[in-house]
Amino acid sequence: MSKKNDSWYYNPWVIAVGGATIAGIAVSLICDWLKSKPILSTIFSWLMRIKDIATSFFGYKIPIWIIALAIILIYLISRIKFNISQKALPDYWSYKQDRFYNWIWKWDWDFDSVEKKWYMVNLQPYCPKCNTQFVNKSNHLDIAYECPRCKDYFSSRGLNYGHPPEDKQNVEALIIDNVQKRNY
Ligand SMILES: [Zn+2]
Repeated sequence: MSKKNDSWYYNPWVIAVGGATIAGIAVSLICDWLKSKPILSTIFSWLMRIKDIATSFFGYKIPIWIIALAIILIYLISRIKFNISQKALPDYWSYKQDRFYNWIWKWDWDFDSVEKKWYMVNLQPYCPKCNTQFVNKSNHLDIAYECPRCKDYFSSRGLNYGHPPEDKQNVEALIIDNVQKRNY
């Protein structure tokens, strides 16, 4: 055992007794604070009532913090269940690939739990000849893609540099339009 682990504060008894003492003080402080607030004192009296019902039901005294903890747990579980049902997969979930002009485009759907919306993510063009993801060779002067397998090169700078690349923004708009028209 290392020297660090021999310290008195790593002793399981110290942790258990210390933890229980701190929890006890915290609970009594919270109870006092609850009683001092008009609305909260109503909640507190409700908690006391539930405690009395639970005590008579189970046949022995149940601490109020267990009742409060149980209510918080039930609330959290119901929230989680609600979020899961909200996150139900949409019909277009499997629509992750399409061909609009010549290139193949692939993407994913991701759920934003704050906005409660599905978003298209990671939209990428693929080579129509070999289905390999294009490498983005764009810079501040040029939008360019290259197939690392076929070496086909597409550049916005004109015919001297190959064919023009397909427009990512247009493709994104077409995907959203297809989803809205349920054309997938
Ligand atoms: Zn290719």
